[in-house]
Amino acid sequence: MLDDAGLQALREAARLSPDNLPLRRHLAEQLLAKGYLADAEAEFRAALVLAPKDADITAGLAEAFVRQSAYGAALSALEPFLASPGYPPRLGIIAARALLGEGETGKAAYRYYEAISRDPSVADPELAERLTVATTGHSSPPPPPPPAAPPDSSEEEVERSKLTFADVAGMEAVKESLRVKLLLPIQQPELFAAYGKRAGGGVLLYGPPGSGKTHLARAAAGELGAAFVNVGLADILDMYVGSSERNLRATFDLARRNRPCVLFFDEVDALAARRSDMRQAHTRQLVNQFLAELDGVDQHANEGVLVLAATNAPWYIDVAFRRPGRFDQMVFVPPPDATARAAILRILCRDKPLAEMDFDAVARATEHLVGADLKGVVDRAVEVKLQQSISAGRPIPMSTADLLAAAKGAKPTAVREWLATARNYVLHANESGAWDELMPWIKGKR
Ligand code: ADP
Repeated sequence: MLDDAGLQALREAARLSPDNLPLRRHLAEQLLAKGYLADAEAEFRAALVLAPKDADITAGLAEAFVRQSAYGAALSALEPFLASPGYPPRLGIIAARALLGEGETGKAAYRYYEAISRDPSVADPELAERLTVATTGHSSPPPPPPPAAPPDSSEEEVERSKLTFADVAGMEAVKESLRVKLLLPIQQPELFAAYGKRAGGGVLLYGPPGSGKTHLARAAAGELGAAFVNVGLADILDMYVGSSERNLRATFDLARRNRPCVLFFDEVDALAARRSDMRQAHTRQLVNQFLAELDGVDQHANEGVLVLAATNAPWYIDVAFRRPGRFDQMVFVPPPDATARAAILRILCRDKPLAEMDFDAVARATEHLVGADLKGVVDRAVEVKLQQSISAGRPIPMSTADLLAAAKGAKPTAVREWLATARNYVLHANESGAWDELMPWIKGKR
């Protein structure tokens, strides 16, 4: 509840004159400024109903999303603007923060530098610094120049994953539940049939950005020897632009033609934001279509198609998505503990020339880093070693000190922020037990 008397008064005034746009906008901005993110979000939505194409309100809504780690939802709110050239540059800055949150460093840098090239006053030094660290591993400028064109984002094709669960460090409980849920029904259909169970239903992977959700989905496909269809955020956003139903149907059909197949929806919160919140009829239609495809026209429609989805913001997922046969299992992909970090580092260094290497020591020095961050550390250490080897004219193997040095410059992606957001959402909303796996983490017991 709001404990600020001024805000309460504003809210009361807005309640009495719900069509007063300037008032509602002011209330929303105040809520955002004071950090009442969920309330701010609701107010911005209400304001958008009054002024659907307003860039300031959209910016506020997207900002509220970003600060709640709902990066996919932020990008989908900004999408109508970002699609047309000449959009307000400040929207590009918010998009850059959302993209960075998603680990899409290249696209984030593109949006950021494109925006400040059009309006230098929107520059955000702190964001620029994070982008520089994320793209180069060094905290000093110069910033990279804006690329000539946005990176190609079309990902929607069948992939044969070479990864298996052996390439996923730690997460034994997660792997086990995926094995039971996804792999056994396909590998041993008789056994499952005997117990009257059929394959199907999807799994929703959730956890902080970079914790390995995509990696895990890819490994599940490889483990099963299944094809892998990866539907990224860009593909989902494309679906909002015209012929969406056809695109979505085509994606499911592609998976069905290639069964057994793992059909993976990354950042599914962009699609599944609670339906009641959806402003646009065509958005609602797209979601309904998605649910219809998940259910299948008959009970065999999705046989052999394993639907996985990932999100950083599970609290945005409409309950309709969690009904039986849909995403009826939620699996928490946690930030790695020290043992898991050592195991991830070991995997990431597997085919590199190594001198002595104390992975445990590096793991201890990298608290709060997730898999994606650790990959950045290893990549940077390798780069340094390569340069040294070139000047020395012989290969110089990598050692503990190299990884420790690379880890020094690493800034943890948003794990702590993410856990704080998660705490706000789930601490008092766990009646159904949906968040049980997450509880020890947000209570600080892990
Ligand atoms: P998410 O989808 O949760 O944002 P990703 O799956 O993209 O995270 O993880 C980024 C990278 O981090 C992966 O490509 C992989 O190299 C590395 N990684 C993350 N978790 C693990 C893990 N458990 N074992 C090995 N590598 C990992």
